[in-house]
Amino acid sequence: MEANNIMCYQTDKYLTFCSRLKHLLTVVYVSCKQFPTINPADGTIIAQISEGDKADVDKAVAAASQAFSRGSKWRNMDASARGKLMIFYLIARDLEYIATLETLDNGKAYSNAIFDIECSIDTIRYYAGWCDKIFGDTIPADGNLVSFTRKEPVGVVGQIIPWNYPFLMLAWKWGPALATGCTIVLKPAEQTPLTALYAAALAKEAGFPPGVVNVITGYGPTAGAAIAEHSGIQKVAFTGSTEVGRLIMTASSKSNLKRVSLELGGKSPLIIFDDVDVKEAAEIAYNAIFSNHGQNCCAGSRTFVHAKIYDQFVTFAKQLALETKVGDPFDFETQQGPQIDQEMFAKVLGLIKSAKEEGAVLETGGERQGNVGYFIKPTVFSNVTDNMRIAKEEIFGPVQCILKFEAMDEVIERANNTNYGLAAGVLSKDIDKALVFAQAVQAGSVWINCYDAVTPQTPFGGFKQSGIGRELGAEGLKEYLETKTVSIKVSMRN
Ligand code: ADP
Repeated sequence: MEANNIMCYQTDKYLTFCSRLKHLLTVVYVSCKQFPTINPADGTIIAQISEGDKADVDKAVAAASQAFSRGSKWRNMDASARGKLMIFYLIARDLEYIATLETLDNGKAYSNAIFDIECSIDTIRYYAGWCDKIFGDTIPADGNLVSFTRKEPVGVVGQIIPWNYPFLMLAWKWGPALATGCTIVLKPAEQTPLTALYAAALAKEAGFPPGVVNVITGYGPTAGAAIAEHSGIQKVAFTGSTEVGRLIMTASSKSNLKRVSLELGGKSPLIIFDDVDVKEAAEIAYNAIFSNHGQNCCAGSRTFVHAKIYDQFVTFAKQLALETKVGDPFDFETQQGPQIDQEMFAKVLGLIKSAKEEGAVLETGGERQGNVGYFIKPTVFSNVTDNMRIAKEEIFGPVQCILKFEAMDEVIERANNTNYGLAAGVLSKDIDKALVFAQAVQAGSVWINCYDAVTPQTPFGGFKQSGIGRELGAEGLKEYLETKTVSIKVSMRN
């Protein structure tokens, strides 16, 4: 198959798929099927991608199991040597190329793609440092025992990732899996397979032993489900919708009770008290909801503003949305590109329609932009109330919902009145007030006087139906480790 050219707008030159990506695109799976990957900015086909299904997952799991077997090169490797293989330096070398692929396949603004790839480098570098710092405890057990624990890799892990941060989600998954010595079968989202394929090429170039890293492209209900159900997989890590998260847990319980970690949806509240600089607060709230076109699981999608500053805040919020540059994601000035696909585009517009019908006040936006690609105007609704669909459902689009509140207890109750619990934010000059809210809110991350402060060092994950387990930081490693207790009987205690 001839791969198409990639238009690289930065240099105004055509960039061809490099030979290693071209090679990966021509790999024929057992299924012999292919599917197109689409550029959401104009709806054109970028390339045809091999479509893996159960038989291909079986092959990948066999390779990953072999690579994990006792005495294998990977299992025998010094822990420090694992760290040296981790591909952050190759990602840094090819940063712009990977960002170009990401923007083309996902539609995110090129500057955002660069930022994502930089965060991916930081994440993998962080976990590379952990490789030779993972160890157990010695324990003063009862009886004449010398007891210690070993931290062992869980084994072959399945990883199923979404389309909103394709490369960054891969980095979040590969970092701890490789640091702990697991082997991987990863499936990228069908909408955005290109950068995961490129990462596979980089893993090969870095010199990982064959079978340690496997990438399978394909659809969720086929390839994804085959991973979730596979009895040769010891753990599955999933990021995506709550609905599919449930299917993953069910598949685990029906197969081999593989460990499951889930990072799911959210409807995160951002609380703005009346002692803030209102313009600054509006800017934080703007970034909290509009970054990545609203396609962010921890987006600040319920903006609660104190009644005293409500009208002033709405004026600033409207102005910021109106000033947003929406358009060609490769244009350096663009802040917002298209939504990922027709399905999400229609879903967001449907929720906007419901808000109008339910009586929210449309301040700006509220419709598609242009007639090519999946662009939606940045949309701001005021007078939003808790019972409206836009206040309850995850929109995953550029839609800000501004709600009014008056008192701390009231806003805590309303913020927590959701099945989700991924993140929350609070803006106030009064740190005591901010901490009262931070302690009371049911969310895995709480940001005070900032939003989206996600770093490689700090754990991230959800309360309630926003997920199970944590990614990033030292906690992220635990998901990939088994603890083995070894106890030795001795004749005397001392
Ligand atoms: P979204 O709704 O944001 O597209 P999904 O949860 O549908 O998110 O998709 C996230 C990932 O889960 C993708 O890689 C997708 O292919 C995969 N997926 C979808 N359905 C299933 C399924 N039934 N089993 C396993 N994986 C799935």
